[in-house]
Amino acid sequence: MPELPEVETVRRGLLPVMQGARFTKVEAHRGDLRWPLPKNFAQRLEGQTVERLDRRAKYLLAHLSSGEVLIMHLGMSGSFRVAQPRGIHTPGAYYRAPSWHSAHDHIEFHMSSGALISFNDPRRFGMMKLVPRAELCKEPLLRALGPEPLADEFKGDVLARSCRGKQTSIKAALSDQKVVSGLGNIYVCEVLHRAAISPKRRASTIATRSGLPTDRAVRLVEAIKAVLRAAIKAGGSSLRDHRRTNGALGDFQHEFCVYDRAGEPCPRPGCSGTIKRIVQTGRSTFFCPVCQK
Ligand SMILES: [Zn+2]
Repeated sequence: MPELPEVETVRRGLLPVMQGARFTKVEAHRGDLRWPLPKNFAQRLEGQTVERLDRRAKYLLAHLSSGEVLIMHLGMSGSFRVAQPRGIHTPGAYYRAPSWHSAHDHIEFHMSSGALISFNDPRRFGMMKLVPRAELCKEPLLRALGPEPLADEFKGDVLARSCRGKQTSIKAALSDQKVVSGLGNIYVCEVLHRAAISPKRRASTIATRSGLPTDRAVRLVEAIKAVLRAAIKAGGSSLRDHRRTNGALGDFQHEFCVYDRAGEPCPRPGCSGTIKRIVQTGRSTFFCPVCQK
Protein backbone atom coordinates (compact mmCIF):
# COMPACT_ATOMS: atom_id res chain seq x y z
CA MET A 1 0.00 0.00 0.00
CA PRO A 2 1.44 3.40 -0.92
CA GLU A 3 2.45 5.32 2.19
CA LEU A 4 2.74 9.07 2.73
CA PRO A 5 6.28 9.49 1.32
CA GLU A 6 5.27 7.63 -1.84
CA VAL A 7 2.16 9.80 -2.25
CA GLU A 8 4.28 12.93 -1.78
CA THR A 9 6.71 11.62 -4.42
CA VAL A 10 3.74 11.03 -6.73
CA ARG A 11 2.60 14.61 -6.12
CA ARG A 12 6.05 15.96 -6.94
CA GLY A 13 6.16 13.79 -10.06
CA LEU A 14 2.79 15.09 -11.24
CA LEU A 15 3.45 18.75 -10.39
CA PRO A 16 5.35 19.72 -13.56
CA VAL A 17 2.76 18.18 -15.89
CA MET A 18 -0.40 18.90 -13.91
CA GLN A 19 -0.11 22.13 -11.95
CA GLY A 20 -0.91 25.09 -14.17
CA ALA A 21 -2.08 22.74 -16.96
CA ARG A 22 -5.60 22.27 -18.31
CA PHE A 23 -7.47 18.99 -18.79
CA THR A 24 -7.97 18.91 -22.56
CA LYS A 25 -9.66 15.50 -22.56
CA VAL A 26 -10.60 13.04 -19.81
CA GLU A 27 -11.36 9.38 -20.48
CA ALA A 28 -12.93 7.16 -17.83
CA HIS A 29 -12.87 3.56 -19.02
CA ARG A 30 -15.18 2.42 -16.27
CA GLY A 31 -17.73 4.08 -14.02
CA ASP A 32 -16.23 3.14 -10.68
CA LEU A 33 -13.05 2.62 -8.71
CA ARG A 34 -13.62 1.91 -5.02
CA TRP A 35 -16.78 3.98 -5.37
CA PRO A 36 -18.65 5.24 -8.45
CA LEU A 37 -16.92 8.16 -10.15
CA PRO A 38 -18.59 11.57 -9.66
CA LYS A 39 -21.48 12.35 -12.01
CA ASN A 40 -20.35 13.88 -15.33
CA PHE A 41 -16.76 13.28 -14.21
CA ALA A 42 -15.08 14.00 -17.55
CA GLN A 43 -17.24 17.03 -18.34
CA ARG A 44 -16.51 18.60 -14.95
CA LEU A 45 -12.75 18.29 -15.52
CA GLU A 46 -12.39 19.07 -19.21
CA GLY A 47 -11.38 22.69 -19.83
CA GLN A 48 -10.46 23.24 -16.17
CA THR A 49 -6.97 24.26 -15.08
CA VAL A 50 -5.24 22.67 -12.09
CA GLU A 51 -4.37 25.76 -10.07
CA ARG A 52 -2.63 23.86 -7.29
CA LEU A 53 -1.78 20.22 -6.58
CA ASP A 54 -1.67 19.65 -2.81
CA ARG A 55 -1.49 16.67 -0.52
CA ARG A 56 -3.27 15.98 2.75
CA ALA A 57 -2.14 12.74 4.42
CA LYS A 58 -2.41 10.21 1.56
CA TYR A 59 -4.90 12.23 -0.49
CA LEU A 60 -3.90 14.29 -3.52
CA LEU A 61 -5.96 17.46 -3.93
CA ALA A 62 -6.12 19.15 -7.34
CA HIS A 63 -7.65 22.61 -6.95
CA LEU A 64 -9.48 23.39 -10.19
CA SER A 65 -10.29 26.70 -11.85
CA SER A 66 -13.99 25.73 -11.68
CA GLY A 67 -13.87 26.05 -7.88
CA GLU A 68 -14.06 22.30 -7.39
CA VAL A 69 -11.33 20.13 -5.88
CA LEU A 70 -10.45 16.74 -7.34
CA ILE A 71 -9.61 14.44 -4.41
CA MET A 72 -7.56 11.38 -5.43
CA HIS A 73 -6.39 8.40 -3.38
CA LEU A 74 -4.17 5.56 -4.62
CA GLY A 75 -5.86 2.93 -2.44
CA MET A 76 -3.92 -0.36 -2.26
CA SER A 77 -2.54 -0.62 -5.75
CA GLY A 78 -3.15 2.64 -7.60
CA SER A 79 -0.42 4.47 -9.49
CA PHE A 80 -0.08 7.20 -12.04
CA ARG A 81 1.95 6.92 -15.21
CA VAL A 82 3.01 10.01 -17.07
CA ALA A 83 3.60 9.71 -20.80
CA GLN A 84 5.02 12.69 -22.61
CA PRO A 85 7.27 13.23 -25.61
CA ARG A 86 10.36 12.92 -23.34
CA GLY A 87 9.37 9.44 -22.17
CA ILE A 88 7.26 7.55 -19.66
CA HIS A 89 7.64 7.48 -15.89
CA THR A 90 5.70 6.30 -12.87
CA PRO A 91 6.07 8.80 -10.03
CA GLY A 92 6.39 7.23 -6.61
CA ALA A 93 7.01 3.65 -7.77
CA TYR A 94 10.10 3.29 -5.66
CA TYR A 95 9.58 0.33 -3.47
CA ARG A 96 6.80 -1.68 -5.02
CA ALA A 97 7.58 -3.64 -8.11
CA PRO A 98 5.47 -2.23 -10.92
CA SER A 99 2.80 -4.58 -12.17
CA TRP A 100 1.54 -2.53 -15.02
CA HIS A 101 -1.12 -3.78 -17.37
CA SER A 102 -2.98 -1.34 -19.57
CA ALA A 103 -6.23 -3.23 -18.86
CA HIS A 104 -6.08 -1.50 -15.45
CA ASP A 105 -5.65 1.99 -16.92
CA HIS A 106 -9.03 3.15 -15.70
CA ILE A 107 -8.71 6.91 -16.09
CA GLU A 108 -6.70 8.98 -18.55
CA PHE A 109 -6.07 12.70 -18.26
CA HIS A 110 -4.88 14.45 -21.41
CA MET A 111 -3.25 17.66 -20.20
CA SER A 112 -2.44 20.89 -22.01
CA SER A 113 1.17 20.33 -20.83
CA GLY A 114 1.33 17.63 -23.49
CA ALA A 115 1.33 14.82 -20.92
CA LEU A 116 -1.02 11.87 -20.86
CA ILE A 117 -1.54 10.90 -17.21
CA SER A 118 -2.98 7.41 -16.71
CA PHE A 119 -4.38 6.14 -13.44
CA ASN A 120 -3.81 2.40 -13.16
CA ASP A 121 -5.36 0.43 -10.31
CA PRO A 122 -5.59 -3.39 -10.56
CA ARG A 123 -7.39 -3.85 -7.23
CA ARG A 124 -9.54 -0.74 -7.53
CA PHE A 125 -9.33 0.50 -3.94
CA GLY A 126 -8.36 3.93 -5.24
CA MET A 127 -10.85 6.76 -5.44
CA MET A 128 -11.56 10.07 -7.16
CA LYS A 129 -14.09 12.55 -5.91
CA LEU A 130 -15.05 16.13 -6.80
CA VAL A 131 -16.10 18.53 -4.07
CA PRO A 132 -16.65 22.30 -4.03
CA ARG A 133 -13.59 24.04 -2.51
CA ALA A 134 -15.78 25.79 0.05
CA GLU A 135 -16.88 22.39 1.37
CA LEU A 136 -13.42 20.88 1.60
CA CYS A 137 -13.21 21.53 5.35
CA LYS A 138 -16.44 19.58 5.82
CA GLU A 139 -15.36 16.66 3.62
CA PRO A 140 -15.76 13.49 5.73
CA LEU A 141 -12.67 11.81 4.19
CA LEU A 142 -10.43 14.66 5.32
CA ARG A 143 -12.19 15.85 8.45
CA ALA A 144 -11.38 12.69 10.37
CA LEU A 145 -7.64 13.01 9.74
CA GLY A 146 -5.24 13.90 12.51
CA PRO A 147 -2.40 16.42 12.21
CA GLU A 148 -0.26 16.48 9.06
CA PRO A 149 3.13 15.13 10.23
CA LEU A 150 5.24 17.42 8.03
CA ALA A 151 3.33 20.60 8.91
CA ASP A 152 5.16 23.16 11.08
CA GLU A 153 2.27 23.10 13.58
CA PHE A 154 2.94 19.43 14.32
CA LYS A 155 5.11 19.64 17.44
CA GLY A 156 5.68 17.72 20.67
CA ASP A 157 2.79 19.42 22.44
CA VAL A 158 0.32 18.31 19.74
CA LEU A 159 1.46 14.70 19.94
CA ALA A 160 1.50 14.75 23.76
CA ARG A 161 -2.08 16.06 23.90
CA SER A 162 -3.29 13.25 21.62
CA CYS A 163 -1.48 10.57 23.62
CA ARG A 164 -2.40 11.88 27.06
CA GLY A 165 -4.22 9.19 29.02
CA LYS A 166 -4.00 6.68 26.13
CA GLN A 167 -3.62 3.16 27.49
CA THR A 168 -2.67 1.62 24.11
CA SER A 169 0.94 1.05 23.04
CA ILE A 170 2.80 3.96 21.43
CA LYS A 171 2.99 1.77 18.28
CA ALA A 172 -0.81 1.59 18.12
CA ALA A 173 -1.16 5.30 18.91
CA LEU A 174 1.18 6.37 16.10
CA SER A 175 -0.67 4.07 13.68
CA ASP A 176 -3.95 5.79 14.60
CA GLN A 177 -4.78 8.30 11.83
CA LYS A 178 -6.45 10.59 14.37
CA VAL A 179 -3.21 10.94 16.36
CA VAL A 180 -1.07 11.69 13.31
CA SER A 181 -2.17 11.15 9.73
CA GLY A 182 -0.49 9.10 7.06
CA LEU A 183 2.00 7.05 9.11
CA GLY A 184 1.87 3.42 7.97
CA ASN A 185 3.31 0.37 9.67
CA ILE A 186 6.76 0.57 8.08
CA TYR A 187 7.30 4.19 9.07
CA VAL A 188 5.97 3.76 12.60
CA CYS A 189 8.61 1.03 13.14
CA GLU A 190 11.35 3.24 11.70
CA VAL A 191 10.28 6.28 13.70
CA LEU A 192 10.27 4.39 17.02
CA HIS A 193 13.75 3.03 16.34
CA ARG A 194 15.09 6.45 15.42
CA ALA A 195 13.61 7.96 18.58
CA ALA A 196 14.93 5.00 20.66
CA ILE A 197 11.46 4.34 22.08
CA SER A 198 10.01 0.88 22.65
CA PRO A 199 6.93 0.11 20.55
CA LYS A 200 5.43 -1.55 23.66
CA ARG A 201 5.62 1.58 25.82
CA ARG A 202 2.24 2.90 26.94
CA ALA A 203 1.27 5.91 24.78
CA SER A 204 0.30 8.02 27.79
CA THR A 205 3.91 8.00 29.04
CA ILE A 206 5.05 10.51 26.40
CA ALA A 207 2.95 13.18 28.11
CA THR A 208 2.98 14.48 31.65
CA ARG A 209 -0.18 14.14 33.73
CA SER A 210 -1.28 17.59 32.63
CA GLY A 211 -0.69 16.67 28.98
CA LEU A 212 2.59 18.47 28.41
CA PRO A 213 5.20 16.86 26.14
CA THR A 214 8.01 14.87 27.71
CA ASP A 215 11.40 14.53 26.07
CA ARG A 216 10.09 11.38 24.35
CA ALA A 217 7.26 13.30 22.65
CA VAL A 218 9.73 15.84 21.30
CA ARG A 219 12.08 13.08 20.10
CA LEU A 220 9.19 11.26 18.42
CA VAL A 221 8.07 14.31 16.46
CA GLU A 222 11.64 14.95 15.32
CA ALA A 223 11.95 11.29 14.28
CA ILE A 224 8.62 11.34 12.39
CA LYS A 225 9.67 14.35 10.32
CA ALA A 226 13.20 13.07 9.72
CA VAL A 227 12.13 9.58 8.63
CA LEU A 228 9.43 10.90 6.28
CA ARG A 229 11.74 13.50 4.76
CA ALA A 230 14.46 10.90 4.18
CA ALA A 231 11.95 8.58 2.52
CA ILE A 232 10.68 11.35 0.24
CA LYS A 233 14.25 12.24 -0.66
CA ALA A 234 15.09 8.60 -1.42
CA GLY A 235 11.98 8.39 -3.57
CA GLY A 236 13.09 11.36 -5.55
CA SER A 237 16.55 10.00 -6.18
CA SER A 238 15.35 6.54 -7.17
CA LEU A 239 12.84 8.19 -9.47
CA ARG A 240 15.75 9.65 -11.41
CA ASP A 241 17.39 6.21 -11.48
CA HIS A 242 14.10 4.77 -12.61
CA ARG A 243 13.89 7.07 -15.57
CA ARG A 244 17.52 6.54 -16.46
CA THR A 245 17.39 2.75 -16.40
CA ASN A 246 13.86 2.63 -17.74
CA GLY A 247 12.31 0.03 -15.48
CA ALA A 248 14.89 -0.84 -12.81
CA LEU A 249 13.44 0.64 -9.64
CA GLY A 250 15.33 2.24 -6.81
CA ASP A 251 15.78 0.06 -3.77
CA PHE A 252 14.27 2.03 -0.94
CA GLN A 253 14.06 -1.05 1.31
CA HIS A 254 17.77 -0.79 1.88
CA GLU A 255 17.15 2.49 3.65
CA PHE A 256 15.07 0.84 6.39
CA CYS A 257 16.82 0.43 9.74
CA VAL A 258 14.53 -2.12 11.36
CA TYR A 259 11.61 -2.90 9.07
CA ASP A 260 11.80 -6.50 7.78
CA ARG A 261 15.23 -6.94 9.39
CA ALA A 262 14.47 -9.46 12.14
CA GLY A 263 17.62 -11.28 13.27
CA GLU A 264 19.99 -8.63 11.93
CA PRO A 265 22.22 -6.52 14.20
CA CYS A 266 20.79 -3.18 15.30
CA PRO A 267 22.23 -0.45 13.04
CA ARG A 268 22.51 2.09 15.89
CA PRO A 269 26.20 2.83 16.47
CA GLY A 270 27.37 1.23 19.70
CA CYS A 271 24.25 -0.93 20.17
CA SER A 272 24.77 -4.68 20.45
CA GLY A 273 21.07 -5.54 20.06
CA THR A 274 19.41 -7.75 17.46
CA ILE A 275 16.26 -6.66 15.63
CA LYS A 276 13.24 -8.57 16.80
CA ARG A 277 9.80 -9.07 15.25
CA ILE A 278 6.67 -9.11 17.37
CA VAL A 279 2.98 -8.76 16.46
CA GLN A 280 0.99 -5.82 17.81
CA THR A 281 -2.67 -5.25 16.96
CA GLY A 282 -2.32 -7.75 14.14
CA ARG A 283 0.66 -6.07 12.47
CA SER A 284 4.37 -6.90 12.52
CA THR A 285 6.54 -4.65 14.63
CA PHE A 286 10.32 -4.64 14.14
CA PHE A 287 12.44 -3.11 16.90
CA CYS A 288 15.62 -3.37 18.92
CA PRO A 289 14.90 -4.51 22.49
CA VAL A 290 18.26 -3.14 23.67
CA CYS A 291 18.25 0.53 22.65
CA GLN A 292 14.49 1.19 22.33
CA LYS A 293 13.10 1.90 25.79
ZN1 LIG B 1 19.64 -1.14 19.18
